[in-house]
Amino acid sequence: LSEIIRQRAWVEINQQALIHNVAEIKGLLSPKTALMAVVKADAYGHGAIKVAQTALDAGANGLAIATLGEGIELREAGITAPILILGAINTSEEIAAIAQWQLQPTLCNPQQALIFSDTLSKLGQTLPVHLKLDTGMSRLGTPWHQATDFVRLVQQLPYLKIATIYSHLATADDPDRSEMERQHRRFKQAIAQLKSHGLPLPPLHFANSAATLVNPNLHYDLVRVGLALYGLYPAPHLRSFADLKPVLQVKAKVTQVKTIPPGTGVSYGYQFVSDRTMDVAVVGIGYADGVPRNLSNRLEVLIRGQRVRQIGAITMDQLMLDVSAIPNLQVGEVVTLIGKDGDQEITADDWANKLGTISWEILCGFKHRLPRIMV
Ligand code: PLP
Repeated sequence: LSEIIRQRAWVEINQQALIHNVAEIKGLLSPKTALMAVVKADAYGHGAIKVAQTALDAGANGLAIATLGEGIELREAGITAPILILGAINTSEEIAAIAQWQLQPTLCNPQQALIFSDTLSKLGQTLPVHLKLDTGMSRLGTPWHQATDFVRLVQQLPYLKIATIYSHLATADDPDRSEMERQHRRFKQAIAQLKSHGLPLPPLHFANSAATLVNPNLHYDLVRVGLALYGLYPAPHLRSFADLKPVLQVKAKVTQVKTIPPGTGVSYGYQFVSDRTMDVAVVGIGYADGVPRNLSNRLEVLIRGQRVRQIGAITMDQLMLDVSAIPNLQVGEVVTLIGKDGDQEITADDWANKLGTISWEILCGFKHRLPRIMV
């Protein structure tokens, strides 16, 4: 089957690289710190089920996802590990499904806690819940200085069992660590207040990939690692902290080769016009697969270990290359869009830099039409 689905375009997932990254990250952690693999958004485009299974087999202790649907997908695949939903859940229908599928929700504020307790009491079911504090991200969570009231309320509500308390960093990938440290001070302040009120402390967590790499003081009882698992660094200055290997490669095949005379327009709008006789290859991958149209005329790909430039507008399902420097190119030859070929490599960071975005967005952009193949 993998031969048939490799006819046009596909994503290769290097399982050994993923296992290596899990070991590399675990190597940074003390034995008492657990690793939660963040596999939301279909494991950042890598395919959630297989990534989750591989990461757990390699030593990850739990999983984090963003939505209820993502959690159900993992449970339906037979995954029994603890699964934390990072996103907000607000309706009793969702809460019932969470209880049914034994997922673990994030609680962000007192109102939500009351809805949970009410729904769970009707179901007669207790759930482990994770309390989120906002220490500076201004996204989900109760303000850190209201932590004590929030925790006390949840503790008194029936059918809720506080599993962890956590917060999320806004600037952990910034070489200037002052904002991260400010958030950390707030987190510590909240914890100190809980202690001073005699409230029992559950396990705590705070670190994403960048914080896990730079600062062991932020590891607490578990770290929530996404990007580093997939072999990318949140920022260039973090490279020295671990040896990570990219897990994903994107490949497609040449579907037609032709020679065009000088002055010939290529693709919609003729954004590219040949200035000489040129060999052009058509490749079966386009923006509907996740190759951003904004990379038109700026993308480079690899063929036979050589860099080749893409020409003309990237179309929905296809794109064109100037292959004049590749002798006798054949239909069916493999084009690497992201990955290694010979001693050349193109990374999701290269695309992100060209587009003025981040590698997270590039990885999540690869669509379901590209089969994910474990290699
Ligand atoms: N924790 C939370 C709450 C997140 O939203 C994310 C991802 O955005 C992560 C952890 C993982 O972040 P990263 O991919 O930088 O490791």
